[in-house]
Amino acid sequence: MASLFGHALASVALGTTFAKTFQNWKFWMLGIFCSIVPDADVISFKLGIPYGAFWGHRGFTHSFVFALLLGILITILFFRKSLHNKTGLVYILFFTLSAASHGILDAMTTGGLGVAFFSPFDTTRYFFPWRPIKVSPIGIANFFSTWGKTVLLSELIWIGIPSLIYMGMLAILKRINFTTFID
Ligand SMILES: [Zn+2]
Repeated sequence: MASLFGHALASVALGTTFAKTFQNWKFWMLGIFCSIVPDADVISFKLGIPYGAFWGHRGFTHSFVFALLLGILITILFFRKSLHNKTGLVYILFFTLSAASHGILDAMTTGGLGVAFFSPFDTTRYFFPWRPIKVSPIGIANFFSTWGKTVLLSELIWIGIPSLIYMGMLAILKRINFTTFID
């Protein structure tokens, strides 16, 4: 995993892509939720499931299929009224992207096993060739350590700065009245 903060930040940056009409507190909170929930799979360690297994850490819950299913489920649960029009698709897209961003960031971290992006069809674990993000420790106690500080610093550089640049570019495009691609 990247840390909770890194994943949440990526979701917020993605959220700014969408038109203001979508951006209410439920949109932001559920987007952040989708970006961190794949790591609920760390419970697999307690259950004795091997890291590399289907339900192991960075397995199915980090896949694109899981992201899409989660996006659909969250939209059905929280934006039921929007399901009958285009708005529902926008919500599904945002929550799916938020959840999918989790695996993408994890595949850029320095440790652990890779991410099963294509599970359940292909359970191979993948990393990107370029992995600048320091892997985050599992568990709160470990996080408040020198390791945790190193992780936050690396995320500040490799997630924080790109997110800020992305949000800045969108703000400029909106200012010159260039409609965002999702409206
Ligand atoms: Zn993860």
